[in-house]
Amino acid sequence: MNKIDIKNLSRGELKEALEEFGVEPYRAKQVFRWLYKVGVRSFDEMSDLPDELRKKLKDRFHLTHPVLLDLKCSASDGTTKYLLKLEDANTIEAVFLPEKERSTICLSSQVGCKFACSFCASAPFGFVRNLKSSEILDEVLFIKSKNPSRPLTNLVFMGIGEPFDNYDNVLKAIRIFNDEDAFNIGARRITVSTCGIIPGMKKLEKEKLQIELSVSLHSADDAVRSKLVPINKRYPLKDLMAACREYIANTNRVITFEYVLIKGANCSAADALKLVKLLKGMKCKVNTIAYNKIRIKDYTEPSSQDIKAFLKILKDGGVNVIHRKSKGEDIDAGCGQLRISRL
Ligand code: SAH
Repeated sequence: MNKIDIKNLSRGELKEALEEFGVEPYRAKQVFRWLYKVGVRSFDEMSDLPDELRKKLKDRFHLTHPVLLDLKCSASDGTTKYLLKLEDANTIEAVFLPEKERSTICLSSQVGCKFACSFCASAPFGFVRNLKSSEILDEVLFIKSKNPSRPLTNLVFMGIGEPFDNYDNVLKAIRIFNDEDAFNIGARRITVSTCGIIPGMKKLEKEKLQIELSVSLHSADDAVRSKLVPINKRYPLKDLMAACREYIANTNRVITFEYVLIKGANCSAADALKLVKLLKGMKCKVNTIAYNKIRIKDYTEPSSQDIKAFLKILKDGGVNVIHRKSKGEDIDAGCGQLRISRL
């Protein structure tokens, strides 16, 4: 009999699976807590379960464990990048970002990515496969176990992959991150970032989850955006913005637009004015970030003067914009740089 990957089961599915094996439903909560609150590495560690039940669990279920292949810690800001090997020997990266008031993990949702954004380090590797929800949960379990003194407060799906291209597994993991008997991370502290997969946005809208949605915009001009984010050809700005407006109206939540500033590509005064026009009257925020150099592309970041000028036009136009500093650049852990070290 093939064993079931227990961390692939939602709380409800775990309860059902246990019931099928004749285990009382209240045990599901206990097992769930051991798995995610404590983060045990074996069923034997579930010390308040009867021996017989532990044996049953061992017979029926399997516990995945990623293996650490490499770790790089930034000397400047403590950002740590973990290279993890999965059971089938595929590798993913996840990043831990400790700050004074909070600690964030930047998660991967897929091995590789299909969407080939021209400025992103994941693009040249192509797509391998979706991560299972157990593997997404393992990223957090692993990093938490290595940083016991830094309580985890925030999660962002901004690592490798497109979360809405692996919707079901990502959502299943998010519900467990959010569950008070598991990670107990508030939904508002969980951010999903998409390159603009409209069907994913429409699905999320109906989930009744208070998680944060980021949309990687990067240009307010279809021709430019299609070059930077090729999925724009399938989901052009007109449709994307309509979906964003609908999302905001139906969820009463704010959307954050990510905008990477690339010299000569998307951050002239004209680009800024177009962005102001595009976002007019929308309940949204904009996060700008200077392009992080990746070795495979001759893009560069704009000068600080050009960044200031771009931001001023947005602010004067009434856009709520924050310019983000990239973290962990010295270890290639900055936005869009994951996997670059393995080129
Ligand atoms: N696929 C999702 C999430 C992964 S990328 C998405 O596209 O949103 C996470 C964020 O990093 C996105 O906003 C992406 O556009 C940005 N990013 C990618 N490469 C970058 C780079 N070289 N410099 C700065 N930001 C980058």
